[in-house]
Amino acid sequence: MPNPACNCAALPDQRGRHLCPTCSALLRQRLVELPHQVTVLRALLVPPGAPRTGTLHHAGTSRPPVRLDILTLLGPASTTTAHTHPDDQDPTVPIHATLHGWAHLLAQGRRRPRLTAGSIPTLAATLNQHTEWIAHQTWAGACHDELTALVLRLRRITHTHPTQRPCPAPCICGAFGLIDRDWDTYIECTVCHRLYTPAEYRDHARTVMPQLARTALALLTNGQPSPSGTP
Ligand SMILES: [Zn+2]
Ligand SMILES: [Zn+2]
Repeated sequence: MPNPACNCAALPDQRGRHLCPTCSALLRQRLVELPHQVTVLRALLVPPGAPRTGTLHHAGTSRPPVRLDILTLLGPASTTTAHTHPDDQDPTVPIHATLHGWAHLLAQGRRRPRLTAGSIPTLAATLNQHTEWIAHQTWAGACHDELTALVLRLRRITHTHPTQRPCPAPCICGAFGLIDRDWDTYIECTVCHRLYTPAEYRDHARTVMPQLARTALALLTNGQPSPSGTP
């Protein structure tokens, strides 16, 4: 989805950055959310009423005992990277293979082969630790786009969306659109898509909330906002 706060079109910059800070933050959010979505996905693998013992081939049943779309997503990683099969007929790449593919590029670039090892949560955490380095790679945008598409696909399957809570302070754009969303490491403005770290939001709220409170109080008592700074 287009993000007005995204500055990727102006990149790479002089420091070789290929992913803007906003998209880097969103990439981190995807990597945090992904293991949570996988937990729900595993719980949905066996549909309600399906036999939970025996083999996958039950005579007399037309419905498979597991959801094949989920089984494919939870399948094992390829021994090669996830990005070497442009002619694959099935566009679904297992989640582990997707993460392994990006971890493979990360490990190659950083000359640390062990970065490719581990489960989905481990690989997601590994990539998350290196998002600033990834932001300076030419493949950073593709990584961001693929993981974003993957998380959005998982949300559609699991029907699990992060819960969000409105924040009381307005954004610096003036809109009361700041939300704090589960699993996100940033507070986001739903109007201008600016991202705040929790510390940035706390500092911002400490600055703007007292004046807002004074204005609200003046409106309640006088029907007129008080001059700025007047208690
Ligand atoms: Zn961007
Ligand atoms: Zn805003």
